[in-house]
Amino acid sequence: MSRVSAQLSSLEIFRQWYEDSFTEFKLVSEWKDVNAGYALGYFPVYFPVEIPYSFNALPVALYGAEGRINLDIAIAHTQSFVCTICKSVFQLGAEDRLKAFDVLAFSNICDVARNLSGIMKRNLVDKEIVYLHFPIHNDTPLAIKYLVDEYKRLIDVLENVTGIKYDEERLRDSIKQFNEKRRLVKRLMKIRREKPWLIPFTEFYVVVKAGSVMPVEMFNKLVSKYLREVGSRRVRPADRLRILIKGNFCEQPPLMYMKTIEDAGAYIIEDESLIGQYWIGEVDLDGDPLVSLAKAYVENPSPLTVRFHPSIDKQEYIKREIRDKKIEGALFLSPKFCEPSLYDYVIYKKALDDIHFPYLHLEYEETTSSFEHLRTMVETFVESIMFD
Ligand code: SF4
Repeated sequence: MSRVSAQLSSLEIFRQWYEDSFTEFKLVSEWKDVNAGYALGYFPVYFPVEIPYSFNALPVALYGAEGRINLDIAIAHTQSFVCTICKSVFQLGAEDRLKAFDVLAFSNICDVARNLSGIMKRNLVDKEIVYLHFPIHNDTPLAIKYLVDEYKRLIDVLENVTGIKYDEERLRDSIKQFNEKRRLVKRLMKIRREKPWLIPFTEFYVVVKAGSVMPVEMFNKLVSKYLREVGSRRVRPADRLRILIKGNFCEQPPLMYMKTIEDAGAYIIEDESLIGQYWIGEVDLDGDPLVSLAKAYVENPSPLTVRFHPSIDKQEYIKREIRDKKIEGALFLSPKFCEPSLYDYVIYKKALDDIHFPYLHLEYEETTSSFEHLRTMVETFVESIMFD
């Protein structure tokens, strides 16, 4: 941490990394210079960040540009029915804003992301592009072995780019750091579940998104400090509806969009934005770390929209979430043209219809810039439940 950073509050440092994470990536370049390191940018939703970090390559999530750049080049290269995050990530590459990254990684989360990888490869010819195939049949014993082989392919790429040899012990250390990070994020989520008035959603989001860019040790140290700051806050609870949000796991709604929802009378108790930062949970430190990482993906009992897992009953899962987290209303936020989000909506909607639970479905884009209509919709939804 620089001397200037040491004088800032933890939240101010999170804000700096957050602001840097859309179009600039200057802090990523600085980190590379100071640490003689590398950087790997990955497209959401989930990526085994521990692997590049064990090669001294900073893993950075590319969550789009939040409407901060013009998408003209991307619009000329893609169909009109493509989600906006794919356009903005392509545009970032086309404008050479991704030059800090030595490797860009994509995976088979959906057809659009799959094709994005190909378009990037064709247009950014000097860039190392890696494409990970996560297993489709996650309930077969071969899935773990298959995923380990995929991770070995990623390791080959990283060895070539960095000139560093794969080291099991370094990977285990990296897993230890990221396990701690996920524990800390879950502590923040627990506070939001129990006392959502202590950490506004917008603040929580800035902290976790900053954590998708900054080096993990720095994040862990700053969150511990931030947790102490939060613990000393004296804030009175407001009379607001406790809501659960589903569908925003990949393309991110603008932060103002989420603020408008809370300002309309809700506490966002949990949502899926940035879910890839904590979903994998605690990765086992015993045994072969590649197997542990693969197991944590394949055997994870929590649903992830972009992972097909037939043995997980999503309808029972959402009913349990509503009960356990004392949820009073649900919002389904679907990025425009996002099929995975819409498929999940159909599944969850049926579960909520069965128990006559109130919900609202809305569409957004990361470029959404008008929030009046949203405010009216959410206010009406909240009032219809609170004054029922
Ligand atoms: S927003 Fe949806 S359609 Fe677009 S890349 Fe993400 S999962 Fe695929």
